[in-house]
Amino acid sequence: MKQVEPCALCQELTDIEKETPSYMREHFIDGAGQLCEHCYEDIAQNKEWHNLL
Ligand SMILES: [Zn+2]
Repeated sequence: MKQVEPCALCQELTDIEKETPSYMREHFIDGAGQLCEHCYEDIAQNKEWHNLL
């Protein structure tokens, strides 16, 4: 069974498998980790995502 990454903010499971290299991932932020599509969009709009972690 495949393991997938949870979102670093809301813990919702993404469809990114844990073995996927970071450069191939969508919605991945260095220093923050894997985000879901929803959180990534929120963060992309308000650049203060580091304050949320
Ligand atoms: Zn999320």
